[in-house]
Amino acid sequence: MTETAVATLKDLLSSPKRIAITTHQKPDGDALGSSLAWYHYLKKGQHKVKIVTPTDYPDFLKWLPGNDDVLIGPVDPDMANWTFEGADLIFCLDFNAIKRINEFESVVMDAEGMKIMIDHHLEPEGFEDLGFLDATASSTAELVYRLIVELGDKELVDKEIADALYVGVMTDTGSFRFTNTSPAVHRMVAHLMEMGVDVHQAHDRIYSNSSPDRVRFIGHVLSNCLTILPELNTSYIKLEREVFKKFNVKSGDTEGLVQYALGIKGINLGILMAPQDNIVKLSFRSRNEVSSADLAKEFGGGGHFYAAGGRSQGNLEETEQRLIELLEKRKLELAGPAG
Ligand code: 5GP
Ligand code: MN
Repeated sequence: MTETAVATLKDLLSSPKRIAITTHQKPDGDALGSSLAWYHYLKKGQHKVKIVTPTDYPDFLKWLPGNDDVLIGPVDPDMANWTFEGADLIFCLDFNAIKRINEFESVVMDAEGMKIMIDHHLEPEGFEDLGFLDATASSTAELVYRLIVELGDKELVDKEIADALYVGVMTDTGSFRFTNTSPAVHRMVAHLMEMGVDVHQAHDRIYSNSSPDRVRFIGHVLSNCLTILPELNTSYIKLEREVFKKFNVKSGDTEGLVQYALGIKGINLGILMAPQDNIVKLSFRSRNEVSSADLAKEFGGGGHFYAAGGRSQGNLEETEQRLIELLEKRKLELAGPAG
């Protein structure tokens, strides 16, 4: 986040603008939280602001202030396209690869508005005109907070902005336990709490909000769909489509599952394979010297060193096969110190 970039942004925001904010498909807490925080901040200026998401997102995120103003792109594609086409500025939050906005890729790329990225993932593709990027940041929410502070507007952080930022940083740090949790994160959270965030309530609304089906689904998956490969210090969960049907699985219900795979003693890599539309979505989580991002790259994805995602065009069995072949090749790396 350079001083010149901040100055450029300050200048851009000094007159009223039409602004679109978008984020990655299947928005998670950070994607939606950082977008809503940025939305509430920008609304304090004279701007016209709209958030467009490429897909719907889980119900447990829908309590955040401003949620009703979010346009879920596929629900009204004409309005979504019109928003992007008419925007002076298009903020791209929590993603750095354009395909992560699905069918809105071309309208955003062709739009005349300036593309401004705020993101914390590794290896940005470079489609933006202006970037606020820091792969060491815990979350995009942390970057949005830093940006607001550097723009000289720290006093504008109110309860609405604070709630949204808190959800972003809480979810991306695994409730402040992942390696991306820094003193700066806790200093920011102290300020957010001073602005009125109820941390217990926020946590409850996100993590203590499962349907009975979801809890039984997790039980079933851990009993029946988990494979441990001790010689590769790896464990993976393979979800069959039938399981989705049986437990009436909804968007967000698989959130956190992959963490169980990594939660086994001696395991350095946990993987979740889940069918999604006509692809298989892969989630990787790792520890010690094992890079999730490197593996995700083999599946056309990326992310962070210890948490990344990708997808496979093959069916579940083919994906599993390919995965195991790739893991065998990385046996030495995987066998590193087990945690
Ligand atoms: P998850 O496994 O929870 O979907 O994703 C883990 C991390 O990797 C998140 O930070 C997510 O944004 C990122 N990620 C997931 N899928 C992709 C992808 O296809 N490409 C890139 N660049 N990052 C991804
Ligand atoms: Mn994030």
